[in-house]
Amino acid sequence: MSLFEVFPHLVAAWTVVGLIVLPFLFFIPAPYGRYARPGWGPLISPRLGWFLMEGPSALAMAALFLAGSRTREPMSGIFLGLWEAHYVYRAFVFPWIRRSGGRLMPLSVVLMGATFNVVNCLLNGLWLFRYAPHRELTWLADPRFVAGLALFVTGFSIHVQSDRILRGLRKGATAEYAVPRGGLFRWVSCPNYLGEMVEWIGWALATWSLAGLSFAVWTIANLLPRAVSHHHWYRSHFPDYPTDRKALVPFVF
Ligand code: NDP
Repeated sequence: MSLFEVFPHLVAAWTVVGLIVLPFLFFIPAPYGRYARPGWGPLISPRLGWFLMEGPSALAMAALFLAGSRTREPMSGIFLGLWEAHYVYRAFVFPWIRRSGGRLMPLSVVLMGATFNVVNCLLNGLWLFRYAPHRELTWLADPRFVAGLALFVTGFSIHVQSDRILRGLRKGATAEYAVPRGGLFRWVSCPNYLGEMVEWIGWALATWSLAGLSFAVWTIANLLPRAVSHHHWYRSHFPDYPTDRKALVPFVF
């Protein structure tokens, strides 16, 4: 059996793993940031941690594009551009502008995050640049691409705006937390997570691929439980926390 024949089964199996992980993350929040706790091995600087977790995805996708058979196809270049817009921000900008206040991150979390990212990158890159049916430029006018791109751009904008608001809460070297206000924080506790989910749902639509869907499922599996944990954490730490603010989806959840 060739990799091409096995590929859809690999993607399906990886998606099932994400769905299995999801409920556990409601009870065991990944031990970084406000949930940092002893017992997860050696610690490293979060700047290095985020760079090591996210950098491979930026580099591996570019490598898959160059090594693939679609380098001359404009649609491949467009998909690469969307992917890199996210990962260049996440790996090469975010780690340097975030304010951790000196809190460290377990290397074990970094290794798990990097593995998760590399598998998703491999599945998406192999599909887009090797196995997917040829996509003409007419795909740009397809409603799936148009809607997916709109979601991707909207999600990314929400994500970056929310990150900026969170950054503004820490002045100097403090690791203290404050109640975020403004932007979509008016309605939800974790708009940065919401933005990222919307982004990858948009990606799944725009690429119209099982690999894209799998990544969206994994993103939801990681971020939905963490958003619920953050919401409860805010409520238990700030007596004046806005009571009408939802965890993730404005007015709904
Ligand atoms: P958080 O929202 O927990 O934190 C983001 C940054 O803001 C951190 O530097 C954090 O500091 C700081 N911060 C958060 N809340 C406050 C507050 N109330 N007051 C002051 N500072 C605050 O996001 P994560 O660290 O979990 O994730 C970072 C990004 O990575 C997110 O935008 C997320 O979308 C993305 N991500 C994506 C995943 C995926 O599966 N695609 C998985 C995990 C993350 P501190 O670190 O000290 O808490």
